Amino acid sequence: MALRIALIGNPNSGKTTLFNLLTGENQYVGNWPGVTVEKKEGKLRDKENITITDLPGIYSLSPYSPEEIVARNFLLDENPDVILNIVDGTNLERNLYLTTQLLELGIPVVIAVNMFELVRKRGDKIDFTLLSQRLGCRVIPISAITGEGVNKVADAAILATHESRQVINMHPFCGIVEHALAHIEEAVLKEIPLNLQRWYSIKIFERDMYVLEKLNISKDALNSLETSIREAEKELDDSTEGIIANERYQFIDQIKQGAYQRSAYYDMTPSNKIDKLLTNRFLALPIFALIMFFVYYISISLVGGWTTKWINATLLGKGAYLGSHWIQGLPLVLSNLFTKWNVSAILSDLVIKGILAGCGAVLSFLPQMFTLFVCITFLEDCGYMSRIAFILDKLFRKFGLSGKSFIPFLVASGCGVPGIMATRTIENENDRRLTIITTTFIPCGAKLPMIALISATLFGGSALVALSAYLVGILAIIISGFILKKSKSFSGNVAPFVMELPDYRLPRFLNLWRTVLDRTLSYIKKAGSIILISSILLWLGTKFSGGSNGIAYTPNLALEKSLLGRLASYFLFLFKPLGFGNVRAVIATIMGLIAKEEIVAVFGVLDIANMSMLAGYSFLIFNLLCAPCVAAMAAIKKEMYSWKWTLFAISYQCVFAYCVSLIIFQLGKFYSGARANPLGVTVSAVILGILTYWLSKERNK
Ligand code: GDP
Ligand code: MG
Repeated sequence: MALRIALIGNPNSGKTTLFNLLTGENQYVGNWPGVTVEKKEGKLRDKENITITDLPGIYSLSPYSPEEIVARNFLLDENPDVILNIVDGTNLERNLYLTTQLLELGIPVVIAVNMFELVRKRGDKIDFTLLSQRLGCRVIPISAITGEGVNKVADAAILATHESRQVINMHPFCGIVEHALAHIEEAVLKEIPLNLQRWYSIKIFERDMYVLEKLNISKDALNSLETSIREAEKELDDSTEGIIANERYQFIDQIKQGAYQRSAYYDMTPSNKIDKLLTNRFLALPIFALIMFFVYYISISLVGGWTTKWINATLLGKGAYLGSHWIQGLPLVLSNLFTKWNVSAILSDLVIKGILAGCGAVLSFLPQMFTLFVCITFLEDCGYMSRIAFILDKLFRKFGLSGKSFIPFLVASGCGVPGIMATRTIENENDRRLTIITTTFIPCGAKLPMIALISATLFGGSALVALSAYLVGILAIIISGFILKKSKSFSGNVAPFVMELPDYRLPRFLNLWRTVLDRTLSYIKKAGSIILISSILLWLGTKFSGGSNGIAYTPNLALEKSLLGRLASYFLFLFKPLGFGNVRAVIATIMGLIAKEEIVAVFGVLDIANMSMLAGYSFLIFNLLCAPCVAAMAAIKKEMYSWKWTLFAISYQCVFAYCVSLIIFQLGKFYSGARANPLGVTVSAVILGILTYWLSKERNK
C-alpha cells in the first residue's frame, strides 16, 4: 500500500537536510528561511511505496503567507498518512507553536527533534518520554547532519500511519472558547470528516477568510456563530486570533515544565560571542561592507587580474584587458584553419567574430565568477548571510520595507528570477509588489562581468566599483521604498518578521561544492545557450545592412550602417544626456535586455566603446538599475499576476535608472569642472529637488 509522509517544520529546522537523507536525493540546502518555496517529493530509500513531501518551512497554519497556504492546503486536501514534524531542538519553544496546530489536524504526527547533537553539546535537557506523553505522539531525537536517529524516525513514521485519525485533544482551550468551538462544530461542520472538525472549528473561530470561503457557510449560520465568537472576545478582551495564540503559548509552557531545561551554556556559545561583534549596532554594516569588499577584491581584482595576465601572456602575448583581445589568439588559429579548408568568409566571420567573440567574452569571466561563487556560498552556508538579513531587516523596516524583503534581495544577488519568486514569503500584498519591483536593483551574477569589465577597463580593476554597485543597489531599494510607500497603492504598515539565527557552522565541503558547481555550470550553460543565440543575433544585426536593395551581408560594415546600429541610433538622443550616447553602448544596453551577460558579449564582438570614467560609470549604473533581462521580466509578470503591475514595475525601473544616471553624469560633470550642460544640470537639480520634497513628505498610513 502506498504511504505518504509530509515533512513539516519551521524554516531552517533541517527539513531539506532530512529529506535528502531519507530519499537520497539532492535538494538545495540553504541557510535562511524561504528557500524551499515549493514542495518537493521523493521516495523513501529502499521503499518505493513510501512518498515523502518536503513542504515549505512555516511558522503556523494561518493564512499569512502563500507558503503557509501551500503547506496547509497540502495537509487538508492531500490528506497525507502521517505528518513528520521537524522541530529545531535548539529553539524548542518557538517550534512547538506550529506543532500544537499540527496536532489538531487529526493526522497522526511524529515529532523529530532535530539538531540533537547541538542540544547535547549545549547540555540542554529534554525528557522525551514526558514530552511524548504530553503531546500524545512519538517524539524522537535526531540529527540530520550526523544521521543519528534518522532511521528510527522513519520507522516511527511508518508505524504511526496505522494509528487512528482522530484528534486526541491534548490541549483544551479555556471554557468559553471550547464552548464556542463546540457551537461551531454543531452548527456548520457536521458534514466535515470527524477528524478535521476540530481544526476547522478553530479556524472559523479565528475568522479565517480562506476557510470561511472554502466551506461556503451561509450568512445566517455565520451570524449565529458570530454571537458566540464575540462573547468569547468580550469576556477574554482579545481578538480571537490573539486568544488562540495566547493559549497555545500557555500550553507550550505547561509542556515544558519538567520536560525541558535549557542549559546556561546557551548564553556563551561561540556563536553568540561572534554575534555580539558581527551584529553590533554600529559595527555590523561597516564589517559587512569590509567583507564584501574583500570578496570582490579577491574575485575581481586578484583572480580577475591573474587570469587576465595569464591569458594575455599565454594566448596573446600582449593587449589590453578584454575578452575580445585574448580570444584573438584562438581566432587567428581558427581563421588560418578556415582559410585552409576554404570555409566561406561569411561563415568564418560568424564563427570567429560572432560566436567566439561573444561567448568567449562571457566565458573569460568564468574564473572570477567561480571565485565569487565560492566566497558567497561560503558566507551563506556558514550562517553569516542570515546575520546580514537580520541587520538589514531592521534597517529596511525603518524605510517602510518589509523585513522579509531581504531574503529575495539576498537570493537576487545570485539571480533575479528566484529572487522575485522568493517574494512569495511576504504576506502583505503591497510589500510583496514593492519587493518585486525593487529586487532586481541588487546586482545579480549576470551583471558582475559588466561590473568587472568597467572596473578593469576604466578604473584599473578596483574592487570599489563592485562595492559601489552594491551600495547603489541597496540605496535604490531604500529610496524606492521611501518613494513608493508614500503613494496610496503601497501605503500601510509593514508586517513583523521573525527570523531565527542559526548557529555559525563551518560549511560542509560537499554542500558547498555542490552549490558552487551548480552555479558555475549554469553560468556556462547560459554562455552556451542564450548568449550563443544572442551573439549570433548580434552578429547578424551588425554585419548586415538594410537598404532599398534588401538586407545583405557586408564585411567591414560601418557599425552605424548596420541594422542594429540603425536601431540604436534612434535611441542615441535618449542616452546622450547620460553620457553614453554612442552606438556600441546603446546596442549593449538593448542586448542586455536579453541577458545581462550580453553586455560584455557586445563589447567582445564590437570592442569597447570609448567612454570617460564618468560616462562609463553612468552606463554601469543605468544597466544595473534599468529593466532586468527577459527571464526576470517574465518572473515579474508571473509573480504580479497582472499586466498592469508588470508594466508599472518595468517602467518604474527604467525611469528610476534614467534619473539616477542623469544625475550622476550631469552633476558629476558639473562638479569635476568639465564643461557642463546647463540644461542637463538644471534638469538633474530639479529631479533631485522633487525627490527630496517627496521623501520629506509625510508618509501615507
Ligand atoms: P529547512 O529550511 O528546514 O529545509 O532546513 P535545511 O535543511 O535547509 O537546514 C538548515 C540548516 O541547518 C543547514 O545549514 C543545515 O546544514 C543545518 N542542519 C540541518 N540539520 C542539522 C542538524 O541535525 N545539526 C546541525 N548542527 N545542523 C543541521
Ligand atoms: Mg528547505
